[in-house]
Amino acid sequence: MEIIDRVIIGSSPIAIIEAMYLKSKDQSVINIEERSEIGGAWTTINRSGFPEVELGCHIWSYNKETYQLISELFNLELIKLSPQPTILFRNKMIPYDWKSNIISIQKVLKNITNLRETLASPELRFSLFPSSYLYPSKGTLELKNSLNELVVKHDLNIQLNSAVDKVVLKNDRVELFNIEGNLILTTKELVLTSLSKISLIVLEDGSEIRLNTRKVDYIHVHLILENVSGRPFSYIRTNGDEVIHRLSDMTFQVKSQLKENQKLFCAGIFPKPFQEKSSEELKAYVSKFLLENKLISNQTRIVNYASNVYPSYYNDSSFIDKVKNKTNGKVRFLRSTDFIYSFYNQKERYKELLLSNTK
Ligand SMILES: Cc1cc2nc3c(=O)[nH]c(=O)nc-3n(C[C@H](O)[C@H](O)[C@H](O)COP(=O)(O)OP(=O)(O)OC[C@H]3O[C@@H](n4cnc5c(N)ncnc54)[C@H](O)[C@@H]3O)c2cc1C
Repeated sequence: MEIIDRVIIGSSPIAIIEAMYLKSKDQSVINIEERSEIGGAWTTINRSGFPEVELGCHIWSYNKETYQLISELFNLELIKLSPQPTILFRNKMIPYDWKSNIISIQKVLKNITNLRETLASPELRFSLFPSSYLYPSKGTLELKNSLNELVVKHDLNIQLNSAVDKVVLKNDRVELFNIEGNLILTTKELVLTSLSKISLIVLEDGSEIRLNTRKVDYIHVHLILENVSGRPFSYIRTNGDEVIHRLSDMTFQVKSQLKENQKLFCAGIFPKPFQEKSSEELKAYVSKFLLENKLISNQTRIVNYASNVYPSYYNDSSFIDKVKNKTNGKVRFLRSTDFIYSFYNQKERYKELLLSNTK
């Protein structure tokens, strides 16, 4: 079997750009994707009665330099969210940035013994004046279309409907097996992301590292509403609600496909209430929540309503460190739990890619 230089698990935006980067370095690269389409979490749903729209409420962390890099890599039109993202706290909208202030203070306190290094971390952000959060003008659909164009333009080799389950390290190669135990590919280096789901890694000495993932079901409901005359919002992180953890107004992404008086909202739902409540109860809860928080009015009518569940598997960071230390460079991780920071971490390499593309 031919030994591929690099195999990447998945086809999310970071996995596609990594493939482009490696290919620009004259490496042979294959992306293995178990789903039937590319994009990973950055995908869309296409339900009857709805325009094609992103499957859940998304926000991109604030980092001006990375916004620029991403807009160039994917050729995206990024717009300023209007109004800017907020946190809903006791019926009041407060700037979303306050969340990063709180997280940053917590990080500093936790790592007080290593203060210099902690303060240098890019994820540590204090903001007195709210930042300008950007997002693609047509949402994830724009990103997804761009990914498909890049795959064709750069002739990337993506193997869909194919999953790696077990990884076996040999002296000179890494062997990849599917769930049936068949050897599907052999590579010099395997590239995983924070959300790659691998059951078992067998090291050269025969010892095993077993999977340690945390399954997270991302549950969202989409609503098309008529006659909305509530407080305007773009993205809201709710605080303290037991059912809804975030909300998005996605109208701007699909405006031309909605009627003049319609809006498209999305709500992120915690797994427990989703299991416990019937669809009608959940719909009534979401509607009441929107009304109580003055995001809709008594005149607002729900025209369409649909829910979706996207299962994902997060690798524990101790698992990532263990794999990194024990595989002698044959298995590499792209840390990818935050969209923007996954690109920030690779920015020098991907800027090189942009330069090589313009030559
Ligand atoms: C629903 C959802 C919403 C999110 N929202 C945000 C957000 O708003 N902002 C933000 O910054 N981040 C968000 N994230 C975090 C997200 O993890 C990152 O933005 C980014 O998508 C991670 O890229 P990834 O490749 O690690 O994972 P994913 O995007 O989940 O892609 C992984 C892909 O790999 C495939 N795969 C996994 N294991 C295997 C295998 N063994 N064999 C073959 N294929 C495999 C999966 O099918 C999937 O398509 C969200 C994540 C999810 C799941």
